[in-house]
Amino acid sequence: TAGPLATVPDPRDRLLGGLLSPDFDESSCLSRYRAALYRRPSPHAISTYLISALRRYESLHRRCGPGTSAYARAVERLRASSPNASTSSSSPSADDCSYLVWNPIEGLGNRILTITSGFLYALLTDRVLLLHSSGGALDDLFCEPFPGGSTWILPEDDNDFPIRDMGSLNGGHHESLRSVLRRGEEPGAAGASPWLYVHLRHDYSKIHHDQQFFCDDTDAALRRVPWLVFQSDNYFVPGLFLIPRHEAELSRMFPRRDLVFHHLGRYLFHPSNTVWDMVTRYHDEYFAKADDERVGIQVRRFRWAPISTDELYGQILNCTQRETILPVPNVAATGGSDGEPAKQKAVLVVSLHGEYSEKLRDLYNNNNNGSTSTTGREAVSVHQPTHLGAQRSGVQEHNQKALAEMVLLSFSDAVVTTAVSTFGYVGQGLAGLRPWVLMSPVDGKAPDTPCRHAATMEPCFHAPPKYDCRAKTNGDAGRIVRHIRHCEDFPQGVQLV
Ligand code: GDP
Repeated sequence: TAGPLATVPDPRDRLLGGLLSPDFDESSCLSRYRAALYRRPSPHAISTYLISALRRYESLHRRCGPGTSAYARAVERLRASSPNASTSSSSPSADDCSYLVWNPIEGLGNRILTITSGFLYALLTDRVLLLHSSGGALDDLFCEPFPGGSTWILPEDDNDFPIRDMGSLNGGHHESLRSVLRRGEEPGAAGASPWLYVHLRHDYSKIHHDQQFFCDDTDAALRRVPWLVFQSDNYFVPGLFLIPRHEAELSRMFPRRDLVFHHLGRYLFHPSNTVWDMVTRYHDEYFAKADDERVGIQVRRFRWAPISTDELYGQILNCTQRETILPVPNVAATGGSDGEPAKQKAVLVVSLHGEYSEKLRDLYNNNNNGSTSTTGREAVSVHQPTHLGAQRSGVQEHNQKALAEMVLLSFSDAVVTTAVSTFGYVGQGLAGLRPWVLMSPVDGKAPDTPCRHAATMEPCFHAPPKYDCRAKTNGDAGRIVRHIRHCEDFPQGVQLV
């Protein structure tokens, strides 16, 4: 098979500088230790503090995760407290475990970002993260990230998990944080419910009580609630940086705050063997031969930001040629006809739509009648793995392909992404690259500046809390601390820089 990177990274770095645990069986998850052979090595150092926090989390998960007696006890206590239970719960003890249960909503990019946000919250609050794979949403998609034989998937066979119908919980539920605060109760007070629902979907930003999740005193009170269930469609990591009691811990874990998703994403998300097989097959087909430079272009169209195909194609060309990501055909053609081109450029387009890669392929092929075209001293080949037409996030194979393409995007040397797309955020973050962002259309037209080189590789938190906990009134989350600013691609949002 065609080799991955020409220069094989230091074999000691299969653990990504200590980010990954060595305690896994390699064959159960080929991607875990092999992705490093395909992706450019991360130039971004990991703090030893983060490494030890991860190892500590792993031992917590080993002790408290599904299959352990601590887990069985915790579920039993939850059941005993439900309104129609006949038994009464035993009193809590010091080695009890607490949990954070994630639920799937929206597309895969959103899901990856909310799992990451939940994981960071779990790290900070000593909870065990469990994913509710509702309707098989996560089947054969990711490998287990934590060693030790437990799982991060909430057991499905546990049909009688005491918290029912988690997908239809909403902020108004009796056991939601919002309702508890509205009733003037203290979360986790003696005799209170052992579980609470935290509503962090984007519409939470209209409700102060939901947003108090990001306040110091609420955060402290929630420590006493053994089970938290949440739904979110947002990368709420920057919100955790707004909570003063986590400040010191976060700055030790992340001396560089713009690397949170880069590190946690590469720690958590290892494609399953099925998805890894898709990745390596595409890779060998597209990248293995033309390996001088790989350019990833992610093209996403949103209903709320309409633009015609031609207009968007023009924007992509404008951006990539202006920033010299792609060559301008004809201009330098004179020097390139003798012998081999000096540079092979492989362009990977990922999109639900096929038109953009077709046009790019035409552009570079028309020049030269070949499968790749020589423009000056560059040979450009254009590839697109799939063009599925529409989003179908309930379909397993659809999500597997989406993940394979995010991972391929992360093998690029330069990435061009679409503003506001969480799919793009995942690709750039795993790659560890600041992307060139195709800015959103204005009145159906490409903006004057077709793209911007982002200031950070961090995803944008599109719906940050408006509530300012200290002032107890609405404020501006982009002006509270120095390292959290309004997003370039979506000014209402905030991001870590
Ligand atoms: P966002 O909507 O751009 O923020 O990204 P999400 O990933 O949350 O949702 C979009 C979903 O549409 C993806 O998860 C995929 O299911 C699908 N999709 C969008 N773009 C692509 C693409 O380039 N390739 C594939 N395979 N699927 C895509």
